[in-house]
Amino acid sequence: MSLAPTGTVGLLVVGGGPAAHAAAAAYRGAGGPGTVLLVGDDDRPPYFRPALSKDLLRSGDPTGTDDDGLLLEDLTGLDDVAIRVGTAVTALSPAERRARLADGTTVGFTACVLATGAEPVPLPVPGADPADGVVHLLRSLADARALLEGLSGAGSVVVVGSGFIGCEAAAALAGRGLTVTVCGTERVPQAARLGDAVGDRLADWLSEAGVWLRGTAEVTGIDPTAGGRRVHVRDGHPVDADVVLVAAGARPRVSLAASAGLPVPGGRVVVDERMRTAVPGVLAAGDLVSARNAAAGRHLAVEHWGDAEEMGRIAGTTAAGGDAVWDSPPGFWSDIGGRVLKYSAWGDGFDEVAVTTHPGGGFSAWYTRDGLLCGIATHQADDDLDTGSDLVRRNAPASSAPGTPDTR
Ligand SMILES: Cc1cc2nc3c(=O)[nH]c(=O)nc-3n(C[C@H](O)[C@H](O)[C@H](O)COP(=O)(O)OP(=O)(O)OC[C@H]3O[C@@H](n4cnc5c(N)ncnc54)[C@H](O)[C@@H]3O)c2cc1C
Repeated sequence: MSLAPTGTVGLLVVGGGPAAHAAAAAYRGAGGPGTVLLVGDDDRPPYFRPALSKDLLRSGDPTGTDDDGLLLEDLTGLDDVAIRVGTAVTALSPAERRARLADGTTVGFTACVLATGAEPVPLPVPGADPADGVVHLLRSLADARALLEGLSGAGSVVVVGSGFIGCEAAAALAGRGLTVTVCGTERVPQAARLGDAVGDRLADWLSEAGVWLRGTAEVTGIDPTAGGRRVHVRDGHPVDADVVLVAAGARPRVSLAASAGLPVPGGRVVVDERMRTAVPGVLAAGDLVSARNAAAGRHLAVEHWGDAEEMGRIAGTTAAGGDAVWDSPPGFWSDIGGRVLKYSAWGDGFDEVAVTTHPGGGFSAWYTRDGLLCGIATHQADDDLDTGSDLVRRNAPASSAPGTPDTR
């Protein structure tokens, strides 16, 4: 590919999520030379995506203002930072250090951070593609607004998928007075990732939020009915609903990186602990990468808000010539009907889990692997989260985990 020059920036950031936002801010903060240009194909500047499955669905107006209340800090307030939203970067030539935008313009760069994130995985069954304002996916603010519009006059919703986005959305929608059924392939949510004891508690939270959970319920197809859909479940009764939300997971958006010649083994861009790809001048951060974590001593693939921000910060600092490495345990939080789960873990598997309980309903789940503490999940136990996260980072032996096991 040969791209004619129309201008050169110090840093080109491709993407409009937290990794892109943090990369641009960190580059500027670390004194990187030249202009920063962030190009995102969402029609809005970077905003707080986690609200979409929680407060926004619950209330329709999470900030008491409007969607502008979700925007992250306005980067154009910083010197020499420009943002172009509503347009994609369609081609990248690392050798020439140039990129082409959807409107045909090209831009040269000294360094580039790819932060193209992830997109919902379509459900591979008939009738599951978004359609008619009845079947929805949820990734962007526009998706959330379309879902809210589709709910007008609706009385019932089926959520396909019992991952965190599915559970959060289901609880939020039940809070609006809708009849909500979650169909998940696992018996209880997150059983494989977090263990049965935590999964059972998440199932309880859904039930307390008024959600009907159908576990071990693989959806095999979705058919139109008069005004809604019938969701078919293997070995079970179908469920009828006015609206269907498909929340069956996300996959990294790697097509730009792949077409630029970057290796994408396992569908992810591989970076080191400084977020450098194998190609000079090109870094990557956030949901699309498999990144080496210096404390874990291995590559990890995580899709969490805080880690996307942290990786973006590291990428921007590295691009500016600064010193930063990724060495904190990844982690997320989830809010299901007002109950908050917090998690800090390497996230790539565990052998055993021991649960400690606290007065008032709090709990902590301590995960171990090969005799080392590898993760902690807590509810109303922030002290345990801090302790556990520190022990995970130090790869401490399992015997360091405090408390009395109660594996329920
Ligand atoms: C509904 C929802 C709720 C969530 N809740 C939580 C939560 O409670 N806690 C938590 O830890 N995590 C949560 N997450 C996950 C978290 O939001 C993601 O891990 C995070 O947004 C990833 O950041 P990112 O910058 O890598 O990618 P993204 O946020 O996906 O941003 C990537 C951006 O790049 C743009 N883009 C892609 N390709 C191009 C291109 N070629 N040119 C220009 N722009 C492009 C995309 O349009 C997108 O705007 C949630 C996610 C969703 C969808």
